[in-house]
Formats: sequence, structure tokens, C-alpha cells
Amino acid sequence: SVSLATMSLAFDEFGRPFIILKEQEQKARLKGIEAQKANILAAKSVARIMQSSLGPKGMDKMLQGPDGDVTVTNDGATILEQMEVENQIGKLMVELSRSQDHEIGDGTTGVVVLAGALLEKAEFLLDMGMHPLRIAEGYEMACKVATKNLEAISEEFEFSVDNCEPLIQTCMTTLSSKIVGRCKRAMAEMCVKAVLDVADLKRRDVNLDLIKVVGKVGGQLEDARLVEGLIIDKDFSHPQMPKELNDVKIAILTCPFEPPKPKTKHKVNIDSVEKFEELRRQEQDYFVDMVQKCKDSGAGLVICQWGFDDEANHLLMHRNMPAVRWVGGVEIELLAVATGARIVPRFSELTPDKLGFAKQVREVAFGTTKDRMLLVEGCPNTKAVTIFVRGGNRMIVEETKRSIHDALCVARNLVRDNHIVYGGGAAEISCSLVVASEADKIAGVEQYAMRAFADALESIPMALAENSGLPAIDSVTAIKKAQVETGNPWLGVDCNEVGTNDMKGQVVFETLIGKKQCLFLATQVCKMILKIDDVIEPKRFE
Ligand code: ADP
Ligand code: MG
Repeated sequence: SVSLATMSLAFDEFGRPFIILKEQEQKARLKGIEAQKANILAAKSVARIMQSSLGPKGMDKMLQGPDGDVTVTNDGATILEQMEVENQIGKLMVELSRSQDHEIGDGTTGVVVLAGALLEKAEFLLDMGMHPLRIAEGYEMACKVATKNLEAISEEFEFSVDNCEPLIQTCMTTLSSKIVGRCKRAMAEMCVKAVLDVADLKRRDVNLDLIKVVGKVGGQLEDARLVEGLIIDKDFSHPQMPKELNDVKIAILTCPFEPPKPKTKHKVNIDSVEKFEELRRQEQDYFVDMVQKCKDSGAGLVICQWGFDDEANHLLMHRNMPAVRWVGGVEIELLAVATGARIVPRFSELTPDKLGFAKQVREVAFGTTKDRMLLVEGCPNTKAVTIFVRGGNRMIVEETKRSIHDALCVARNLVRDNHIVYGGGAAEISCSLVVASEADKIAGVEQYAMRAFADALESIPMALAENSGLPAIDSVTAIKKAQVETGNPWLGVDCNEVGTNDMKGQVVFETLIGKKQCLFLATQVCKMILKIDDVIEPKRFE
């Protein structure tokens, strides 16, 4: 509420009342250390929510949207996206996760957990009386040291089109923490195949836009499959049409398969059986003519944007002219591009040069459900592939699509740069040790910030251990000790209780670029938050 003393009522030249607020009172304002502390608190609370979702044993979150739809997810970027974070600093964390998602695709939870830990440690330093800019500088130095260490401990990851097993293993690591973990092997194989299908290995580039991930409710996770072409959620218009067409020429029509509507101006009087028969015959002639035009062009399949009635359908079937009806505009365009067909708006314009081509078009039923779909494979103009996922309900389908996106990103990142570091917190512990020892060599106050950074890095293995039900401090201390003694940077948290901390042996690793980006982004956001010492927001009126 606003006290009357701070505002005055005035009238404009038309006599309408308006309120003047005194400038100072209009804004809620936090300054200096107060501002930093409030911001850190906000960021920390977002990070704390994410912490329990990290790793193979991480929990999923269920989020309810404004219109009541429910999302169940383990994906950091998605959780934050849907959380409706109101606080501005909280929104920075959302942005942080989104950048990681955009650049790398994986590590969206980890980056927020790390940023939260960095800020938490910064709070202690602020309490000690350290200047925020000194902390920011120390973090920057530490980040450089850690990044250099990541490069030093990274290993080159060998794979080729003929030997893509290593790639599959990496995608499996990514998928292991997700709902789809149950069939991660099959999913990972699909993702790798899709990426290699569209990859330009010479230029080390993968255009993920060429991989469509399509989902449909029904069936089960195991029914997912990779289609080297397009999927159209339709079937042939008549059940007696052939289910498979090979080397087929395709006509794409946006004109309806129906006789022109009688104009209402000219009244048609049907007052006798003869007249009715006559009209019917005329209609039929139209159909016959249309079908003949398609046949004459050389088309072996017509794809129609519009529907047609049973009679036309019957005729198409009899004339051996397979057809698909009610194909959406987007799909029509995709098909046209992929098959090289021109979209034909009038039957009179249908000529052989406007037909597209596909090596195979077939109708398939997926899994145990009765739904049928068309697979259009071997199109001349595209390398595009489609990953088709199934699931018992919309939430599972959506989460599966997101998990596949993560795995695709990981595979793409490896094609771009095949350096890896080991996961399960192994890389973070290694960096933590190096940063801590570098801090000892620094004379200035930055050493404290560097030590704080080293501590913060441990938040990742800590969270992984905690989420797996392991005694976090004991486990992480033991792993640190082992890393110091053996010098192995691949010792991490044994989340799945396999019986070894050797992440190399467990084949748990992450891409070097992903880890580097994660450190970089978390450090940046921290620096940004530390540098804010004045928060001005419009005061709320209750
Ligand atoms: P993000 O959204 O950050 O990718 P995830 O839930 O995918 O979060 O968890 C990633 C973390 O889990 C990484 O630190 C990774 O090394 C670790 N991790 C994944 N699989 C395993 C495993 N089998 N054992 C130990 N750690 C694992
Ligand atoms: Mg992940």
C-alpha cells in the first residue's frame, strides 16, 4: 500500500484526476552489499531446485503450466523455462541454462548448479569483507586455470562411420539420467545414426535442423525408430491400395478431387430419375477425367491437400492410382522440397516435369497400435531424417523428444570436436585440485576467491553423490584423495554403484567443449551478479 503522504492528487486540464508519486518513493531500492546478498539468495534458490535433478539418479520435476498442462522433465533448461521465475536474477539463471542448451545442448542442469555454488561461496567472501570485484577477478583467474586443466586432461576420442560404438556410448551416458534410460541403447544408436546420416564429416559439421524429431502418443518407447526420409501422419486413402510403392513419381495437388460446385445462381432442377442420373454421370466424368490427368502425367502416387469422397476414392483405387488425402500444408511443403515436386494448384497444370520422386513410400503400423503412417524414403533433394518417438502419454513423448535432443547435441559436439573429459564429477574434482594448488601460488587476495572456486567445483560431484544416496562428503573426499594419489583425472562418483570410481572404465564422459562452456557461462553469470550493486525496481502497489 502507498501512504498518502507520498502522493498527491492533481487534475489535468480536462478535469481528470491523476496521482503524482514522489520519485523516491516510487521505487524499491537495494544498494551495495544488500543488493548482492539479495541477488545471491535468489540465484541460490533457483540452483537448489535444480540440484536434485542432476545425474543418472537425478529426480524429475513435474511442472504445471498456466493452463493446467503438466510437464514431467529432467532437463534443466526445460525446468527453468517453465518455472515462471519472477525474480530478475532468477531469470538470469534461466538465461544461463538456455545459453548452455543453445550452444551445447547438454549440461543445462550442471551449469546452474555450478553457478549457484559459485555464488554461495562468494557470499562467504563478501561476509569476510572482500570486495565483489576482487571476487569476480579471482573467479575469472580460476576459470582460466580450470579450463586449461580441462584441456590438459582431455583425451581424443576415436570414432568413425564404421566404428561408431564410442559415439553410441556417449549418447548413452547422456540418456542414462532420463526417462528413456530403459531403452537408452536403442535410442543412442538411433541418434548416432541420424547424426552421421546428415553429418558433413569433412567439414566436421552437423546441421541438426535436418533431423526432425517427431512424436506421437501411443505405443511405447521401444517403438521409436529412425526413418531416412519423411514421415507423414496419414495413410493411403483406400485400404486396398498397395502398402508399398517403389521408385515412385509423386504428384502433389492442392486442388480438390471433386466436381465444381453447381453455382447457386443457376438453379438445378432435379425432378426426374433421368436428370439425377445425368448429373451423376457428369460428376463421374469429372472424376474419371481428373484421375486420367494424374495417370497421364506419369504419377504413381498423388498427395492431396484436400479430402475427396468415397466415390472418388473408389475410382482412384480401381484405376490403380494410390492417393493420400488431407495432408497438411507444412508436410506438403516438406514433401515438395524433399522429392523435388512442384505443388500443383490445378489439374490442368499437372505435367510430368512437376512430379517428385521417392525411392520408396510405404505405409507402416507402429508397434502394437493400429495407427498407420507413411514413410517417404530415398528422396533426391534431402539428407533429412526423422526420429519418430512413441510413448504412453504426451508427457513421456515430450520428455523423450527433449532427451533425444540432448543426445543428438552430444553426438554433434563430438563430430565437431572429438575431445572428451570424464564425467561423474571426475573432471570437476581434477579442476578443483589444480585450482586450489594454483591459489597457493597467488600472493593477492584473489587466492581466496580461487579457493572458493575450487570448493564450488566440488558441488557437482557432491550433488551427484547425494542424488545417488551416497554419503556425499565421504565419497567426494575419498575420490579427491584417490585422484591426488594416483593422478588419474578420471576418478568420479560411482552413481550407479557399479563398484568402481573409474569413469573411463564405466565409459562415462562428456565433451570437452560442453564442460568448457559450462565453466565459462557459470563464471560469467557470477561475475555479472557480483557486479550489480544497485537494484531498482518499480514498487508494487497492493
Ligand atoms: P545436465 O542437464 O547438466 O546434463 P544430467 O542430469 O544429464 O544433467 O547429469 C549430468 C551429470 O551426470 C554429469 O556430471 C555426468 O558426468 C553425470 N553422469 C551421467 N551418467 C553418469 C554415470 N553413469 N555415473 C556417474 N555420473 C554420471
Ligand atoms: Mg545431461
